[in-house]
Order: sequence, then structure tokens, then C-alpha cells
Amino acid sequence: MNPADGIVGRFAPSPTGALHTGSLVAAVGSYLMAKHAGGRWLLRLDDLDKPRQVAGMADDIMRTLESFGLLWDGEVARQSCNPGAYREAFETLQQSGVVFPCCCSRREIALAASAPHLEDDGLPYPGTCRAGMRQTGIIRSWRVSAPAGEICFHDLCQGSVCQNIASVCGDFAVRRGDGEFAYQLAVVVDDHLAGVNQVVRGADLLTSTPRQIHIQNVLGYQRPVYCHLPLVTGPGGTKLSKRDNLVSQQLGNLAGSEGQLLCSVLSFLGQNPPVTLQEGSCPDILEWGVRHFEAGRIPAAGGEIIVQ
Ligand code: GLU
Repeated sequence: MNPADGIVGRFAPSPTGALHTGSLVAAVGSYLMAKHAGGRWLLRLDDLDKPRQVAGMADDIMRTLESFGLLWDGEVARQSCNPGAYREAFETLQQSGVVFPCCCSRREIALAASAPHLEDDGLPYPGTCRAGMRQTGIIRSWRVSAPAGEICFHDLCQGSVCQNIASVCGDFAVRRGDGEFAYQLAVVVDDHLAGVNQVVRGADLLTSTPRQIHIQNVLGYQRPVYCHLPLVTGPGGTKLSKRDNLVSQQLGNLAGSEGQLLCSVLSFLGQNPPVTLQEGSCPDILEWGVRHFEAGRIPAAGGEIIVQ
């Protein structure tokens, strides 16, 4: 990162549904951290995965952000507008010799994997096609070989994080056989092109970060600062489905008070807003949050959002 360029943070929701409270935490956390540093806060719609998108949700997310006073800087970026940049990065990875075509189906990978591992990509890839695909196979994905050893980084919220990619997910897909690029590659290219040097997002993405750092390393990109925020759960740490956890539902329970919910998010992030702040407008609450923001107060572990 070139310090002269200043801090550039971002929020990158996928328009697969309306904003849920976990995403609101990521939006508020990334906004506060970037603005506290006097930086810019960008909005990018991660709309690469077309089948999972729901019509109207991109607009819905933007209107919800605006209703909280979370106003982004500059134009909204959309992954769907960037295939040329992903292709170029993909070709550079190919030239670096880290990419290989793979004909394995999920089922074949599952059968070959000796130790099932419930990672977000499913089972660890056993390396079947790394030394060459069988001649009859059709290309189902393009994979980057997992690096030897661990990828380690410092996370502002989670502390020191190390991962051996080979044992967690193995060689990972960066492009599908039909030509579509995978999230792991797109997010790295998008952040790099937009000059993002501060990535603040939910801890559900923590296990993806080493793969993204590996891609950055091969492409020679600067590594952003990372901060993976605690996850919102139900009572007693239970997992919340996105549908049960919509911002609109929370607001419904509150009779439409964005300020109350915003203050609860600040409390969730360990920022201790004064009780009287709830009566302020969203821009007032955010201004207080930006001024008093301290990353060191964010708890690593998640929990419920308690609205008072
Ligand atoms: N679009 C991703 C999601 O909604 C987040 C991407 C990121 O923050 O890196 O889960």
C-alpha cells in the first residue's frame, strides 16, 4: 500500500437477498474503520454468480444502506462489468505456472478425499489432475495449486492467522469450466484495481483469506490490511439463517428505528455508544462512531445483536 494514497475500504455484498444483520455489521465496521482513518469507503456489488442473484436485491441493498446514512464514495462497482480484468489476471496466473485444468466432479473429489473436511468449498481437493488431466476428461474447473507450507497474516480483530491451504481445501478453483471466474480470483482483482488497502468483512470469510493472499502473492499485488469481524448469531451462539436475520425484520420489530439498530451494531462491535445517541439521526450516530472508533475494542467472538 502506498501511504500517500490514503486508506481505501469497501463493502462488497452479494445481491442474492436483502441485507441481513451480519452484512450490516460488515457495512458499519468497514465504514467506521475507513472513515476513522480519513479514507474512502467504496461499494461493490459481487454479482458474479448469476444463478444465485435475486432481481431487485442490488437496489434494495443500496436503499437500505442509504437509510442508515451509509453513503459510499464514487460509483458503485459491479463484478459483472469486469470480466476482462479477471481474464488478464487468470492469464498471468497461467503464465506463472500455478494453474491447471481439472476434470473432477464434486463426487469424484468426495470419493478420492481420505479425510472429509467441511470447508466452504466442500472436501479438500486430492490433487488428481495436478500432473495432467486424463485425456477423455472435459474441463470442469481451473485450479491454482496450493502452496507448500502455511500462509500467515495478521488480522486486526482475529490476531495471528495461519493456514495450510493444502490441508484445508487443497488446489482451489479460480475459474469454472464454462469460463466464469470464481469469487477467490475476482475479489482479489477487484480490490487491487480499486486500490482497496483495508478489507473489513465478516469472520465467515476468514478461511478464504489465505487463498486470496496466495493469489495476491503470485500476481505481485500489495496485501491489504485485514479485519474479520465477529459473526452475528442467534441465542446461545446458534447459527442464524440469512432469511431469519434480515435488517428489515429487525427494523420491523423496532417500529422502523434505524438509529436504535445502528447503535446496537456499534455496541456489538465493542464501541460503547452512549444510550442517548439512539435518539440521534443515523448520520449523527455514524459521525460519533467514526470519531470514537477503536479497532482494538472489537471482540473476536460473535454473539447476538441486542437491540435495546
Ligand atoms: N460478496 C461477499 C459476500 O457477500 C463478500 C466479499 C468480501 O467481502 O470479500 O459474502
